[in-house]
Amino acid sequence: MAEVAVENVTKRFGTLKALDNVTIDFPDGGFFGLLGPSGSGKTTLLRTIAGFIFTDDGTIRIGSKSVEQIPVEKREIGMMFQNYALFPNMSVADNVGFGLRVRKVSLAEERRRVGEALELVQLGQHSNRKPHQLSGGQRQRVALARAIVTNPRVLLLDEPLSALDKSLRVDMQIELKRIQREIGITTIFVTHDQEEALTLSDKIGILRAGRMVQAGPPREVYNNPTDVFTASFLGEANILEGAVDGNSLRLTDGDAIPIPKGLKTGATFAVRPENISITTEEPTERDTPKIQARLKQRVFAGAMATCILDRNGSTFKVISRDRDLPQLPEGGPVWLSWEPEHTITIPN
Ligand code: ATP
Repeated sequence: MAEVAVENVTKRFGTLKALDNVTIDFPDGGFFGLLGPSGSGKTTLLRTIAGFIFTDDGTIRIGSKSVEQIPVEKREIGMMFQNYALFPNMSVADNVGFGLRVRKVSLAEERRRVGEALELVQLGQHSNRKPHQLSGGQRQRVALARAIVTNPRVLLLDEPLSALDKSLRVDMQIELKRIQREIGITTIFVTHDQEEALTLSDKIGILRAGRMVQAGPPREVYNNPTDVFTASFLGEANILEGAVDGNSLRLTDGDAIPIPKGLKTGATFAVRPENISITTEEPTERDTPKIQARLKQRVFAGAMATCILDRNGSTFKVISRDRDLPQLPEGGPVWLSWEPEHTITIPN
């Protein structure tokens, strides 16, 4: 296993900087998610670590070694992509053992290691089947077994679960995490799915237009976004424009909301939709300050519901357990409040 470190890496395609001075490290044995909008450089970063793409500038280290001059096959990396393309005419066992045969491992050794890898992904019973005799989730497991059978130092996964339907994807997320923990392999994966990244990762990195805008443990990044982009990209955020006035934040439309002590003007503020309470009862003098909005739409999604609100022309969102929401008349006035500590400060 190895730590992977990316230091000041730049990659240009013509005039486009697909990676712009990116620095991030992936400590030994962790599970790391790379997130960002389409075209932000996630796959380029992963392929740069793998060695399919050479950097224009900067250093990539695996373990203590700088690997820029080391070709893909010598980097000891296991990979699994969205289009994992198993060989259709080969059995599951032969698919998994392919990388070992290329490395001229003995037949007995190949059998032993393929057996172990298939047990790990719980496909020991299906080693003689052909890929078309497996479900989508099982094929994904074969691809994973194939990626880890060579005992790589690092596992790179590019959108590994995006072809699966929602419930299978959730099962596979749990499976992937179990397997990663069991073998303790440093794993870096690219995903579009923020929930997936938050669920699986020990650390996430968020790319935007080739730059690593923020990296850290998911909870830390979620609770302390360093810019408005990250606050809105990772989960949802209601952005509040205003100025600090004593223990309140005076919004630009005049309303005041309580904030934690010590907040400074010169920042933008935000509140997550799930932290807001909503009521139809007009607040009294003695209530904590509430801000008024108009309910535009209530979107039912099983256990949870999203209320889309209009507040002086801008949209505000509240997410709550459906059963905790009062009967809210669409188009009617509602009052919103939240605990002071749920006002997030975003440094400008
Ligand atoms: P997505 O989520 O859509 O897969 P991504 O974040 O993985 O996107 P990349 O595939 O890394 O993004 O691409 C980053 C940028 O580099 C994009 O603007 C893309 O068009 C460009 N790019 C990637 N590969 C090449 C290439 N071989 N030649 C030219 N431009 C490229």
